[in-house]
Amino acid sequence: MSNAAIQDVHPPAESVAAIDEFRNHIGGEWTRSARGKTFDNPNPAHTRDIVGRFQASASTDASRAVEAAALAFESWKRTPVSKRAAILNRAADLLDANVDRNARELTREMGKSLALARDEFLRTAQTLRFYAVEGQSLTGEVFPNDDNDTTVYTLREPLGVVSVITPWNFPVSIPARKIAPALVTGNTIVFKPSSDAPLSGFRLAEALIAAGLPKGTLNFITGSAAEIGPAITEPPVIRAISFTGSTAAGEKICRSVAFTTRTQMELGGKNPLIVMEDADLDHAVDLAVKGGFSLAGQACTGTSRVLVMKQVRIEFTKRLVARVKAMKIGSGLAAGMDMGPLATERQLETVLRYIAIGKREATHLYGGERLAGPGYDGGYYVSPAIFTDVTQTMAIAREEIFGPVLAIIEVESYADAIAKANDTEYGLSAAIATSNPKIMQSFANDIQSGTVKINRTTTGNLINAPFGGLKRSSTSTFRESGRTGLEFYTQTKTVYRGA
Ligand code: NAP
Repeated sequence: MSNAAIQDVHPPAESVAAIDEFRNHIGGEWTRSARGKTFDNPNPAHTRDIVGRFQASASTDASRAVEAAALAFESWKRTPVSKRAAILNRAADLLDANVDRNARELTREMGKSLALARDEFLRTAQTLRFYAVEGQSLTGEVFPNDDNDTTVYTLREPLGVVSVITPWNFPVSIPARKIAPALVTGNTIVFKPSSDAPLSGFRLAEALIAAGLPKGTLNFITGSAAEIGPAITEPPVIRAISFTGSTAAGEKICRSVAFTTRTQMELGGKNPLIVMEDADLDHAVDLAVKGGFSLAGQACTGTSRVLVMKQVRIEFTKRLVARVKAMKIGSGLAAGMDMGPLATERQLETVLRYIAIGKREATHLYGGERLAGPGYDGGYYVSPAIFTDVTQTMAIAREEIFGPVLAIIEVESYADAIAKANDTEYGLSAAIATSNPKIMQSFANDIQSGTVKINRTTTGNLINAPFGGLKRSSTSTFRESGRTGLEFYTQTKTVYRGA
């Protein structure tokens, strides 16, 4: 493992710059939290580097944000859709113009590489532009009927106040794929980013506000879930909640909201990659490494179980370990790194806990140690871990770890692989490596997963295609992304218009 390139990417303690404070945006004003408290957002690659200081809002701040969104709704709903779309396009231009600064901040706040951070901001701008077009193409239906003097048709209209609550792993692209369809269809928003990576979400809100959103249309608020969560989820005036995060938090929110509040929950995963005996093994290794270790395993669609056919298990494992040993681990700000730090201290503790469990219950093949020394001290670095002889009952085969840990499970046949892949409460993404066209087709039918990948990584999804999970990876209500992503934010009226 080499860390040669990462020595110069963090400033010495004495040269750490003054910390910028970022405010909430409520009812058109950039405001401090009512009780004047803040919290700091540290860089997980080097916790001495504080990326920003944010408002530790109180529930009264959150209630004001909801009220502001409710007040702004009627006017925004009546704003011509072309004007709403133009604001999304202008915000996309602003994000593109600032992509270098924004990407650097994103890397500093959650650890992914600069290249991935840049891609995420570019993708965010594309998402805004996509919904600027799609939002102007929403249609209803016209229904034939026996009365020639009556026209029967459906109208799609916005819901009202929508809460957008998002995690830290894609701190700007996930908010964008919720906020853009909500705004273009005429809803008003309360947006709470993760407390562990709020700056990228701030940049998105800032761009949309600078692009001309009327006051109250988009309210940005930071603070802990315990403090402000109930105020932005429970009042019945909140007509919809689009949430991405852990299954536990999603379930808790779902149980606490009003009967009339629509929910869209994108939650956890335990995503399998099946490696068949006829797979190109080097390609399969590539899928496991990219799916399992990019973002240090902190993608909801990340590969965490590799189900390998008995005939190729030893050879696949040998090649996998060789590839992983060659990975470069270090700060996302340094060029050429394959894996960065874990995003938070909590993540670090969770991952190390599962690695200790894995060492007790399975065969530990490689990695999983906390990295220390020059370039690693002060950061949340763990080397990628591989376990083999994993069985279905083990915790590392069943529970979402959300870190760089791969569990290798041997399988006897395609049927055995499918049975084991489906033996999970989750169903977010699943992949297979095979050269057999019949197996490819069967896999798409047999796997219980919202995203199905054939000879592709479990990670990654398009802006223009639907995204969402099955089972406890999602509420089976509305899909995100693509044209389908607009449906969550509109309701249908059926109109009978006589002469
Ligand atoms: P998390 O702890 O559930 O938090 C997600 C967001 O929800 C944060 O903004 C959090 O606020 C907020 N939150 C938590 N409990 C809340 C409550 N009761 N009321 C209102 N807000 C609440 O998840 P995370 O650690 O940020 O993200 C990792 C998880 O997200 C993993 O399970 C991963 O699989 C999942 N994920 C799923 C997808 C998908 O599309 N399916 C995509 C990405 C991530 P605080 O930050 O203030 O606690």
